[in-house]
Amino acid sequence: MCLVCDRIEMIKDGTNPYFVRELDTGYVVLGDHQHFHGYTLFLYKRHGDKTELFHLDMPEREAFLREMTVVAEAVSRAFHAEKMNYELLGMGDNHLHWHLFPRFGGDIGEYGNRGRGPVWWYPMEKMYAEDNRPTDAQLADMKLRLNAEMDKLL
Ligand SMILES: [Zn+2]
Repeated sequence: MCLVCDRIEMIKDGTNPYFVRELDTGYVVLGDHQHFHGYTLFLYKRHGDKTELFHLDMPEREAFLREMTVVAEAVSRAFHAEKMNYELLGMGDNHLHWHLFPRFGGDIGEYGNRGRGPVWWYPMEKMYAEDNRPTDAQLADMKLRLNAEMDKLL
């Protein structure tokens, strides 16, 4: 089974607390762990053999990319990012999904090149530590802020 599909099923069942909004090509969800405050994912709707952006036909590719950049802009505004980081990976699950990280100076501590560098230079066990899970109240507030910014952009 695919973890991305699992999360999408939860959205459809109304049981995914991280769900923010449905767009034409995908679902916006907040990350389970929020070391990078505002970390958001954009999950492509369809699971299948299309595992690269260049597998999508051009109109679909453009729609998916356009919506992803709207989400990224909303995340940036909602959480006042200094810089957005974008990752489209998929070695774990063959299902297109974007990781959108708002970045702030000092957010990887002294890791990386004297505190500068990509998110994956921050230790995984710290990034996914249980105390980085948002509380229900924090989650509600983050969803409200992100949806408000998306309303302005859509
Ligand atoms: Zn899937």
